[in-house]
Amino acid sequence: MDRSKLYRRFRTLLIANRGEIACRVIRSARAMGLRTVAVYSEADRDAMHVAMADEAVLLGPARARDSYLNIERVIEAARKTGAEAVHPGYGFLSENAEFAQACLDAGLVFVGPTAAMMTAMGSKSGSKQLMEKAGVPLVPGYHGEVQDEAILAEAADKIGFPVLVKASAGGGGRGMRVVKSAGELSAAIVSAKREAKAAFGDDRMLIEKFVQNPRHIEVQIIGDSHGNLLSLFERECTLQRRHQKVIEEAPSPTLNATQRDAVCAAARKAAGAVNYVGAGTIEFVSDGKEVFFIEMNTRLQVEHPVTELITGIDLVEWQLRVAFGEKLPLKQDEIKLNGHAIEARVYAENPQKNFMPSVGRIKTWRTPDAVDGLRIDAGYRSGDAVSPYYDAMLAKVIAWAPTREAAIERLNRGLEETDVRGITTNIPFLSALVTHRDVRANTIDTGFIERELKGLTETSPPPGELELCAAVAAVIVQEQQAARNEAHSPWRTYGWQPVGLRTRVFQFRQGPGTEQKVTLHYGDGRFTVSLADRAAPIALSMMPYAGGGFDITIDGVKSNVVAVIENHELYLRTRNGRFDLHWVDPFGGETEEHVGEDKIVAPLPGTVVALLAEEGATLEKGAAILTLEVMKMEQTLRAPYAGVLKKIKCKVGDIVGEGVELAEIEPAAA
Ligand code: ADP
Ligand code: ADP
Ligand code: MG
Repeated sequence: MDRSKLYRRFRTLLIANRGEIACRVIRSARAMGLRTVAVYSEADRDAMHVAMADEAVLLGPARARDSYLNIERVIEAARKTGAEAVHPGYGFLSENAEFAQACLDAGLVFVGPTAAMMTAMGSKSGSKQLMEKAGVPLVPGYHGEVQDEAILAEAADKIGFPVLVKASAGGGGRGMRVVKSAGELSAAIVSAKREAKAAFGDDRMLIEKFVQNPRHIEVQIIGDSHGNLLSLFERECTLQRRHQKVIEEAPSPTLNATQRDAVCAAARKAAGAVNYVGAGTIEFVSDGKEVFFIEMNTRLQVEHPVTELITGIDLVEWQLRVAFGEKLPLKQDEIKLNGHAIEARVYAENPQKNFMPSVGRIKTWRTPDAVDGLRIDAGYRSGDAVSPYYDAMLAKVIAWAPTREAAIERLNRGLEETDVRGITTNIPFLSALVTHRDVRANTIDTGFIERELKGLTETSPPPGELELCAAVAAVIVQEQQAARNEAHSPWRTYGWQPVGLRTRVFQFRQGPGTEQKVTLHYGDGRFTVSLADRAAPIALSMMPYAGGGFDITIDGVKSNVVAVIENHELYLRTRNGRFDLHWVDPFGGETEEHVGEDKIVAPLPGTVVALLAEEGATLEKGAAILTLEVMKMEQTLRAPYAGVLKKIKCKVGDIVGEGVELAEIEPAAA
């Protein structure tokens, strides 16, 4: 095919994506003087990527299928705005060959490989067949066309357990199950197929040997339409949860120079097998000795910034130059590795509640300045809504430094200074993760997070410290209010120095049944705090400052506390992490009783995909009741305590809204 038809100069670029990657692409496109067109769904009218682009076109309703995944609407948006090219970002249509072809047919340049290359490399099974021929090392496994259960079972037996069942069309770790023994295989296939069908509309499976103590190593490659192909070093993405990357770094701290050269050469060979054009990633899994090809992603990757920071190359700029039909600006030996970069994915989710996505409005979004090797790629701002329709990734915090140790420190600092309120994020979890001893020492494998989950998600400040900070925050707020009411209040005249001694009793709780009583004596610049379960009172001093925070000194150690109070909800950030507390109003008649706790409700909008217990069944605490698919992920709802399953109020296939009652249980008699 005439390549000038595929790749040629353009002035207007449509970005067929949303969130941080749409914003990221717009930044580089604008720097190159291009006009940018955003597309959006009804849920994203006020989204950041829409505000950033020169023009924006509404695609349709919130559901991705009706908007970001609707090929016709995207092409129509390009036609309407005179866009000449389309950048697909990652996720959504980025690896959809039909879309790449539709762009070409509509006379648009697709910023990426051709539909044929995508088809060849897009399916995990197909690409493995190709790699086998090209002599790239593969994980032993079955990647044939025949899909009946007997054949799959026979293949798994032959490979030997444990095996990994994977959706051939998979991505984002979905449609994948580790199977330890033959007995678990059939159930795993059923559930993986169901997830794959829902997420990718394709439930073909392949089976691989599950590599022991696996590490994930991948190589960034980029090719132009003149036959040049470069590798831009490797990234290591071994810190994963449910096969989805959480922290990525470059270069890999595991490889030596010889191994680095070898894996990069293998990646060039893999991409060379299809004369690849555009940016792509060859993924390998390593057992510590050898690397095995697992898949190719024919697009820009979430974690591409770590490669940019160690090479000084703007990958989006290079993608666009390749799409213009230009030659790659550097030769292989001109690509130099400098320092170390590490990235953390910030998600709207609650690690303490099994990483349940958190939806709602972002009240505060504050990130540190992008200086000193720190980079923030965000897709959200203060006031933006996080909807349940799309991936819950909000931003990436990325740090560069001359050494890995220094990069980790910078990343942690960047995370600590990132302040997001209104929704729950995984930021404290990310901080705990990057500073973990084993992560610093790089003695990890892809199962690390799963094994260490408890330690990584539990925040354990010294007993009472939280309540103590909460009481100080509460008294500041109340005294401030009092000061506003009395013009001559000593608080107004002397700052935070009340005259005479006062005593106040507060009650806080951090989750059901965790009420803590705090007695605060203060005045003349001194504070003494007594906690109900502690004999000796604690003396402290406090210095408030503007903007909802104060310095607190206990035992001669001064530390900084950020405190925000809205009605009865308290947000605290102390040296031990972030905490949400509820301020129990002693006059407000609040009780410990939780109405409706015997009801199992949908935590978010979703689809009921399986019922796991029968009406009348006796349930242990934690017993599985039903499975809900929420944001393309399966989420099992469990009994909050032992009891009898009185009623199931939904059936498989029901689409349920947030808060809808799904089942009722009767607590076992105490
Ligand atoms: P990476 O290696 O770049 O993280 P992933 O395969 O994890 O690649 O997917 C990239 C992103 O796109 C993730 O945020 C994932 O949730 C999202 N994603 C993956 N597949 C799809 C899809 N079919 N539709 C929409 N988003 C997807
Ligand atoms: P996805 O398209 O969802 O990214 P991958 O095939 O890349 O799917 O696998 C996701 C992750 O699962 C990999 O990053 C790797 O950590 C792990 N993984 C994949 N294949 C194997 C394997 N055969 N053995 C052990 N771990 C694997
Ligand atoms: Mg992958």
